Amino acid sequence: MTTKSPKASSKYSLPNLDPNISGANAMVGLEIHQQLASQNKLFCNCSNKGADQSTLIFIRKLRPVHSELGGYDPAAIFEATKTKSIRYHSHPSTSCLVEADEEPPHSVDKESLETALILALALHSNVVDEIHVMRKIVIDGSNTTGFQRTMLISTGGYLEIKGNQKVGVQSICLEEDAARLLSDDNIARDYSLDRLGIPLVEVALEPISGTPQEVLQVAVTLGRLLRASKRVERGIGTIRQDINVSVNGGSVVEIKGIQQLDQLIKVIEFETTRQLGMIQIAAELTKRRTASEFTVKDATDILRRSSSKGVARILETENAQIMAIRAEGFDGILGCEPYEGVRLGRQLAEIVRFYGLGGIFHSDELPNYGITESEVTAVKERLNIGSGRDAFILIGGDRDRVQFAVDAIIQRLNKVTQGVVPETRAATLDGKTIFIRPRPGSSRMYPETDVLPIKIDDLILDSLRGSVPKSFDSYIEDIMQKYHLNRKLALEIFDSDRLKLFEDTVKSTKVQPTFIASKLTEDLTSLRRKGLNPDRLSDKSIKMAFQLLDGGDIAKESIPLILETMLTKDINEVKEAIQILGLKQVSESELNEIIDKVIADNMVLIRQKGRDSLGTLMGRSMSLLRGRVDGKKVNSILENKLKQSLS
Ligand SMILES: [Zn+2]
Repeated sequence: MTTKSPKASSKYSLPNLDPNISGANAMVGLEIHQQLASQNKLFCNCSNKGADQSTLIFIRKLRPVHSELGGYDPAAIFEATKTKSIRYHSHPSTSCLVEADEEPPHSVDKESLETALILALALHSNVVDEIHVMRKIVIDGSNTTGFQRTMLISTGGYLEIKGNQKVGVQSICLEEDAARLLSDDNIARDYSLDRLGIPLVEVALEPISGTPQEVLQVAVTLGRLLRASKRVERGIGTIRQDINVSVNGGSVVEIKGIQQLDQLIKVIEFETTRQLGMIQIAAELTKRRTASEFTVKDATDILRRSSSKGVARILETENAQIMAIRAEGFDGILGCEPYEGVRLGRQLAEIVRFYGLGGIFHSDELPNYGITESEVTAVKERLNIGSGRDAFILIGGDRDRVQFAVDAIIQRLNKVTQGVVPETRAATLDGKTIFIRPRPGSSRMYPETDVLPIKIDDLILDSLRGSVPKSFDSYIEDIMQKYHLNRKLALEIFDSDRLKLFEDTVKSTKVQPTFIASKLTEDLTSLRRKGLNPDRLSDKSIKMAFQLLDGGDIAKESIPLILETMLTKDINEVKEAIQILGLKQVSESELNEIIDKVIADNMVLIRQKGRDSLGTLMGRSMSLLRGRVDGKKVNSILENKLKQSLS
């Protein structure tokens, strides 16, 4: 996909970076999770909308069953032993006994099931004869039940991309969304139940090989097809992309939580480079033929009096410990940076953070951070590091956590020669990826016994064919015709999160559709460029601004000013912004007074120029009215008064 040459780090250059490891043939599999705009949740009658203030909080302890977690997985066992309290926040309008796991799930929501089937038909996917609800184990508390309910709707099929290309569909599932994470610390984790049980459609595409831009095009096309059904939610957080990335036929890394499409390209580029870097490092380490023995010693006493602030912070907590790990043959490997921003040391630090610790110190970067040469020597002596061949890693913090982290780091070090390690990473907002957990083994699924299987026959499918969304292009044509928009504006309003607001506003006001569309796209984009976040403007308040315009209360020119003021002053009410801007409604008599005054003040000009003075008078009136009254109205009043004063 991308051809990048390895970059030798200035500080710790690997002697022989393999020039053949570049030009990665990356494969990217897209998995889209889209919330459905159904009336109800998937397994109960609670509302799908509105995150109300919670009125009830209940607490549960996390208690995953060990046997279900499989093999020795320090991450899972760590989660299990943390015995964290989970606090669930609920409100009766958005959650009931089903979300609280006090009542069995109801039958599958019909509307959501129909939507999933319609989307399967739109993607030419083969719908299964019988749909079974399954339980997928989750251990982080994001489901009150300890599992997520999911059902396979269809397999196979394809997505058509511009230019007759097709991307294969692997599977389409209908599943319940998890609870929304509010906060997480060492003692408790807080979730809101409003999102738990919201229906999601998961579309998994076949991995494709292409430039990140081509992958983006596929994601955009799929997103547009889903939205063209008019049966899915829109807006931030309603669509989430996970991707699977592998290079040179190596292990697959799963990256979760890409919420914005502009992140996608950066994430793919970063992850490709990171995997190439790991392959470079593996090649070098394999050459060194290192042993898989790791000596671990307590180094707390050596660093007890260290003047390092980082070390002091670790040791000031109760029950703290600093452990040192000897990594044979790793000298220069931890700090080596084969590509910009890609270092093994940094990735080990990410793993340690999973266990609630701050990070690591390693020998390639020491002495530094206040840790002295003599302290480094003492650690080396403790670990029996003589030659310049071995490296060491320091991990400090709460004793129990350190034990888990040491185990996890040794497991990871043993896998460095594999190159890319299969794991689950999270996308960061700046387009990088960080470790979140080891990749779960084979999917742990069990049948949900509380919900009966659903038979799907041709009759049902035929009845839904009429609802299959038209092609995206014909949808855009429709918008252009119906609202007299040009192609660019029609595309922009369709792709924006405000399509529904646009259609509602056109329906309920007499404001020109072109004007509304351009305010909702170009103007909001320009606010974003100014560093403001237009997502904070509610549909309701934007609509209010157009209604005021429609009623003649404000002028067209005020709309962008009002929206900007609401963001800069952090206010929710349009009327408040109008007050701040001094755009408050001008009464009929006030308006007449102002225009009379303009005429009186300019009598000399009017006598000289007669009717030709209208332009100048108009300019003066509008500057006095500062966008508070529509220009057309001012013009017509002014014209009448001018006529009167001339006659
Ligand atoms: Zn409910």
